Amino acid sequence: MGKIVLTKEHTYSGSLILVTPDFSLQKEPEMWEMKSVFGRILRPASGQPDVLLRKEVVIALLRLLADIGCKEEIAAVSGFRTQKEQQEIWNGSVKQNGEAFTRKFVAVPGHSEHQSGYAIDLAENGEEIDFICPEFPNFGIFRKFRERMADFGFVERYVSGKEMITGIGIEPWHFRYVGYPHSVIMADRGIALEEYIGLLRKETGWGYPYIFRDGADWIEISCLSLENGQERVLEMPDTAVYQVSGTNEGCAVVSVWRKTA
Ligand SMILES: [Zn+2]
Repeated sequence: MGKIVLTKEHTYSGSLILVTPDFSLQKEPEMWEMKSVFGRILRPASGQPDVLLRKEVVIALLRLLADIGCKEEIAAVSGFRTQKEQQEIWNGSVKQNGEAFTRKFVAVPGHSEHQSGYAIDLAENGEEIDFICPEFPNFGIFRKFRERMADFGFVERYVSGKEMITGIGIEPWHFRYVGYPHSVIMADRGIALEEYIGLLRKETGWGYPYIFRDGADWIEISCLSLENGQERVLEMPDTAVYQVSGTNEGCAVVSVWRKTA
């Protein structure tokens, strides 16, 4: 039997972290954790700067694009941003579009999901792509992308009807990697990441997980509060396949893959 020791540190990173108007990013990712999305499937437009995401997100995105048979219809507009880059985008937009517009479509530096390396803005490929509000329609390959994305760990983050929950206006171009099976649970229930974490917080804990059925196998998802600086020690079989992600609001979510014997 192995042991995992969870501390406050675990709440700051992982694919389920909330980076929102209420919760700023606590731990900037390292550059070695990032990878370019460009290659055989996605190509940059001439003069376009590189688009980086966390390595596991690049792998999932390219698998998704291959799965839907994407040729060159989809363009990657913006991925990982450093604090400095987010500040430059903010300043540039205030100068060009004014503060009201900027507050609506650009996150305050420190509060952008793009700074986590888990978010990407995608566009319909074409001559002119709007950097702040790219066009990502809902027909053909773009619809297919949305239909298949949950199986690869992605969600459309800022949809109609959730503005009060996310604090962000509708952004049909902004996709977030939360990881499988969280993406599927969120899509099936039609809930935003904030609501999903709220649900796990309320209904689960170590020993009474949310059970996600995956064919004959299942995944047990438990939310553990680490708010008061306490440590949690979990017993885990040495052969267990599991993942830990922080929520960035005080919890760690532990997912354990179980197989029918
Ligand atoms: Zn975005």
